[in-house]
This record gives sequence, structure tokens and C-alpha cells, in this order.
Amino acid sequence: MKQNQLFQQTRWRIASWYVGVMGIILSLSGFGVYEAIVHAHKITVDREIEAVAGTLHDSLETVFKTPEQFEPDIWRILPDLCVIESENDCQSNTPDSAVNHRHFYPSPLHQYKIFSRNYYSIRLLNSSGNLIAVSGSSLPTLASKLTSQPWQTLEDNRGSRYLFYSTPLHTRNNQIWGRLQLGRSLQDFDQYLANVRLMMGLGLPLSLISVAIASWKLAGIAMQPIYQSYQQIQQFTADAAHELRTPLAAIRATLESTLNEQTLSKNQARETLEVIERQNHRLSQLVQDLLLLSRMEQKIESSSKNLCCLNDLISDTEEEIAALAIQYQVTLKTEICVKKPVVVKGNEAQLYRVIFNLATNGIQYTLPGGKVSIILESSLNYAIIQVQDTGIGISPEDQTKIFDRFYRINSDRSRSTGGSGLGLAIVTAIIRAHQGTIEIQSEKGKGSIFMVKLPLKS
Ligand code: ADP
Repeated sequence: MKQNQLFQQTRWRIASWYVGVMGIILSLSGFGVYEAIVHAHKITVDREIEAVAGTLHDSLETVFKTPEQFEPDIWRILPDLCVIESENDCQSNTPDSAVNHRHFYPSPLHQYKIFSRNYYSIRLLNSSGNLIAVSGSSLPTLASKLTSQPWQTLEDNRGSRYLFYSTPLHTRNNQIWGRLQLGRSLQDFDQYLANVRLMMGLGLPLSLISVAIASWKLAGIAMQPIYQSYQQIQQFTADAAHELRTPLAAIRATLESTLNEQTLSKNQARETLEVIERQNHRLSQLVQDLLLLSRMEQKIESSSKNLCCLNDLISDTEEEIAALAIQYQVTLKTEICVKKPVVVKGNEAQLYRVIFNLATNGIQYTLPGGKVSIILESSLNYAIIQVQDTGIGISPEDQTKIFDRFYRINSDRSRSTGGSGLGLAIVTAIIRAHQGTIEIQSEKGKGSIFMVKLPLKS
């Protein structure tokens, strides 16, 4: 297959298409999985912010008494809260730098470890929207972009993203105190997604390389039977051309030598015509055989199946080939081992051809003094025809090949018998069309047994 350009190109094409389609499928699935991961993480982060903001909001509202006033208890909840009194206050509000740093009291927010991770930024705004206190990590570059929308995602000049949640704050007696803005750095989330993208980015080409190797191999395996059948067709065409060439060359040579004669006697003319007639017969026999084989392979030749009595077919064959057996000095015998007629459903002419081909082969490949027997038996479901000879036999390697079209073990001997190597191919095709089987037992120098099994009429 490697030498055949057409097959190589087709193999490339199949493998490339497969890789292309798999690439699209894998990319789409990867994109789908990535989107699902993003979505799931986004929901988790949103819920986390909502939960932290809710806890903080509820805790602060229990402390606030007067709008925009900071009760001392507030530092119990936010120990690092820094109140902005002038513009430069709280530029870097870490717990250590807190202006109003008080004793540390574990607050509900510490359950979320928001200080330790330094992900959160807490901003308290008065009712007019001015920033009056901050806690957690500072976000000076983003602060100006914040609006009063409940959810906002902002990006600082270093490309880090932050998600903000904003909610109103009330005093204990339900007066508006101001607004709480809780921002969370999305650094961990973005880092995780960057890792997922990296894994997918590396995984996709690696998967495609594996798919390419697998599809190249699989395309080769899938094309193997097609290539074999292509080779068989090529071989068949070459063999058929070779077989047709021989009689045509004989006719041409005879005609040329006859035409070269100045005068032609009646006898010479007759001899020429006889040669042409003989070669013409051989040609038409060959063409008929090829046609029959091709029709049987395409299952066109399944017509006219009747009940056929094998006893009668064997007797007819015996009569027909008796003269041939005498010519080859071979004893021909038939043995009918059943009392009742053995009837199968099939095409009589074709079944006759099976017995005839096997029996004539038996005679032609048996040396003078040998014996050929045609035996008819029957089992519960099958009719069994055996053609046994004491001839030249067939080697085990050849036993599998002799059923191929145009295969001849000994071409010279076959050709002298008028054989073209199609006889057993036709036999096999007929038996297959009748749902039967053919088996061979043979030993070189001792003889052969061809056993045909045909299903009995049901
Ligand atoms: P052919 O028309 O040449 O006989 P077949 O297809 O009938 O072609 O047989 C194929 C080859 O099988 C023959 O050329 C012959 O060499 C071998 N063969 C077939 N039958 C026998 C047999 N009974 N004994 C030995 N060789 C046989």
C-alpha cells in the first residue's frame, strides 16, 4: 500500500479529515468544559461575597446607632477599620497601620479568613456616597471607578480583577447609615482559570497529535481489505488479459502464416479454419466463465432454482465423462450410498457444472491406471458429494490457492488439458450461491478428495 500513491493520498485525506473533525469536537468540548468551570467558580465566588457581605452587614447594623457615626463596638467586628478624616488618611490600611487600632476580637468575618488571605476590601460610605472608612486591603486605583450598583467587576492597572458587592446599611432604629462596599480580589480565581487554560492549551495539541497517529494507523487498517481487493482486481485483469491473449495470438499466427501462402489448398484452408474454430471455442468458453463468475459475485445469477435430484446429475456426469476417463486410462466409478433420491434446491445446470468440473479435474490430474470415484451420501441436513481420485495430489500450500481465479499449480499440464484455472473458482461460486461448502483433503502423490455439502431441500 505504501507504494501506491492513490492509496497513500486517500489514507492522508482520511487521517486529515479525522484529525480536523476531532480537533473541532475537542475544541468545542474543551470550550464547553471551560465555560462550565468558569460558571461554577463564578457562582461560588458570588455566593462567598454575598455570605461575607451579609454577615458583615448584619453585624454592623446591630452596632450602628446614629447615621455616619462609628460606635466603639465596630472595632470588635472590623479591628483594622480606618476612619478617613482627611484626604491622606488610610492610604495603606493594613491591620498594623490602622489608625484606630483596638484590641483584636475574633469577629464573624474571621470565619471566612478574609484578613489572613488579604482578598477583601471593605469600604463604608456615608449616605451622600463619600468614603468615610476602609478595612482590609486597599484599592486606591479602583476606588474612583466604583458606583452604587450592587455588583461590579473592575480591573486595576496591573490587570488584577476585583469583584464588588454593594449594599445599604441602616442603624438599629432603621435610619439610613450609609453603604457597605465589599470587594474581593479575583486573583486566585483568575490564576486557577489561567491554569485550566494552560492545561487545555497544552492538552489540545497533544490530544490532536495522538488522534493524528491513531487515525493514520486506523486509516491504514481500514484500507487494508480495500487494497487487497484492489490488488485482486488488478491481478484478475492481468490474468484475464493473459488468458485471452493466448488464443488470440494463436489465431493471429495461423492467419498470418496462411495469408503468406501464395496458393491455398483445400486442406490448408480447412486446417486454418479448424485452428480458428478451436481457439474461438476456447475464447468463448473463457468469456462465458468470466461472465458467470462476475454475475455470481454480483448475485445476478441466482435465477431459476428448482428441485434437483443429485442421483440423476451424477449419472448424467458419469455418462458424459466416461469417454474422457477412457482417454486418460482412468477407472471411473460412482457410488450412491443412499437408498432414496437425494434432492436439493438449486440450479440444475450449475450443480451439474460442479460435479462435472470436479470429476474432470479428478480424471485429468490422475495418471493412467488410477481411479476416480464420485460418491453420493446424505446426512440429516446435507447432501454430500465426494469426488475422490488417486491422482497427483495437491500440496498443503496449494490447497488454499487452487480456488482462486486463474490459479494453476502446474500451468503446462493445466493448459494441455484446456484448463484456464477458472474451474474451481466457478465451483466455489456456485456452491456458495447454494449455501453449501467445499472441503479438500489431499496428499501429494496419493490423491485428492473434494467434499461438497449442499443443504437438503427443507
Ligand atoms: P483448471 O481449469 O486449470 O483445471 P481449476 O480451477 O479446475 O483449473 O483447478 C486449479 C488447479 O488445481 C489446477 O490447475 C490443478 O493444478 C489443481 N487441481 C484441481 N483439481 C485437482 C485434482 N483433482 N488433483 C490435483 N490437482 C488438481
